[in-house]
Amino acid sequence: MEIRNVVIIGAGPAGFAAGLYAGRAQLEPLLFTGPEIGGQLSLTLDIENYPGYAAGDAPGLIQTMRQQAEQFGTEIREDLVTEVDLDRHPFRLKTASGAEVGAKALIICTGSSPRKLNVPGEELVGKGVSYCATCDGFFFRGKRVVVVGGGDAAIEEGLFLTRFASEVHVVHRRDQLRANRTLQERAFKNDKMKFIWNTVVEEILGDPEKGVSAVRLRNVRTDEVFEFPTDGVFIFIGHVPNTELFRGKLEMDAQGYLIVDRLQRTSREGVFAGGDVHDHVFRQAITAAGAGAAAAISAERWLAEMEGRGYPGLTDLVQES
Ligand code: NAP
Repeated sequence: MEIRNVVIIGAGPAGFAAGLYAGRAQLEPLLFTGPEIGGQLSLTLDIENYPGYAAGDAPGLIQTMRQQAEQFGTEIREDLVTEVDLDRHPFRLKTASGAEVGAKALIICTGSSPRKLNVPGEELVGKGVSYCATCDGFFFRGKRVVVVGGGDAAIEEGLFLTRFASEVHVVHRRDQLRANRTLQERAFKNDKMKFIWNTVVEEILGDPEKGVSAVRLRNVRTDEVFEFPTDGVFIFIGHVPNTELFRGKLEMDAQGYLIVDRLQRTSREGVFAGGDVHDHVFRQAITAAGAGAAAAISAERWLAEMEGRGYPGLTDLVQES
């Protein structure tokens, strides 16, 4: 079996930064991309707040990060890790393509994904249902759209959609927004932004041929159910961390975010994490990249300390050479 010093899972800013740092430390890291190169950054076109990257295009930033990691010796494989065994060392990973790899140190940068509404019709993604205004807003020029959610993302993306759509109706389950004051003020001042309070989406109506035609809404106070015609449904109801693979193997909080310490160490020695997979507070490309870099530095120091000493901290694990 192939055994690597460091395996990184995830290809967002955290994963690529971890690759860059581990690569520069001569560890010849292997990075599995998973399904989405760029992570949450792949859901946006512009990025104006990544210091040093004034060009501002998200695809360009992802590409640059990838190239820089590769330049310093990170091997990038477009494959999905489907199984991890943290009960033996080197840790063992299996992938969708059938590969099996051992990792002396593991860095988890699997990020988070948009939370789903879990209602019928949500499968019309690309046919009117979207989780990314910056990617899909352009297709709704002059049309009516519904935005679901009341947080910063819903309001910010809703305001962005007013550049294209004729009307943006925010459907929120309460009568108060969670979004910050500045965004709220901008939203309430914008003539195109309208609000449907105390209401949830029960179903998205339409078909794969013609796309979304309406949503079925329910007022949670009165229980009134009504159809609301719309061309698009943009869903911004938060995120869920991509930690399914590690359930029961690593400590997580109630929402499933990995718990790490200040050195980016998870509850299993030799396993580190960085980015949105543990951070639900900042969730920025720059903070994720910083955490990925920190995870790689910690992994490098840990390996340097353990190599030649037989990994004394992992005596509870099956040791394999
Ligand atoms: P969020 O703050 O968790 O807000 C999620 C919103 O969706 C809430 O309004 C919530 O309603 C609603 N919601 C959750 N589950 C729902 C469901 N099943 N059905 C209907 N509505 C549901 O998530 P976010 O807006 O994605 O923001 C996440 C983090 O990123 C936050 O820390 C935010 O500050 C940050 N962020 C910042 C900016 C910015 O500063 N410009 C932009 C985007 C994101 P309730 O209010 O009733 O809970």
